[in-house]
Amino acid sequence: MVKLAVQLKATLEGLTDLKPIGDNFNWLFKVRCSGCREEHPNWMGIDATETRDISGSRGEANLVWRCQLCKKESNVSFDDSFKRSSASYTAEDSEEQRFATLAVLECRGCELTEFDPKGVWSAKGAESGTAGAGVSIMEVETRISRA
Ligand SMILES: [Zn+2]
Repeated sequence: MVKLAVQLKATLEGLTDLKPIGDNFNWLFKVRCSGCREEHPNWMGIDATETRDISGSRGEANLVWRCQLCKKESNVSFDDSFKRSSASYTAEDSEEQRFATLAVLECRGCELTEFDPKGVWSAKGAESGTAGAGVSIMEVETRISRA
């Protein structure tokens, strides 16, 4: 099992606490099979509120995937010991130009290689707590690192 952190870096102007909305946010990843090292060509969505049965076990995972090439089954689940609900990208992270972790996932038999931040995100106004004029989010970069 490998634990991977989904990390984001961005330049926020007038905003803070950038985060995906909802526990059922559809996190889009590229997935690579650890058996044959083949990367699946399509983006795969993982939703923390959905679970699927793992073949040959009583376990469940948020994503169960079978590699088309080597037929090996692998699975991915959100690590609930990492509190996604309180994780966000803050104005301070932006000032420091550092990556912040937004989610941690446990991968068995596969690895996540890329994260696409597509979807609905929320942010707060940096000063007043409400979004105002002249706010922007620029230079968004994402990466997957070992957690
Ligand atoms: Zn494979």
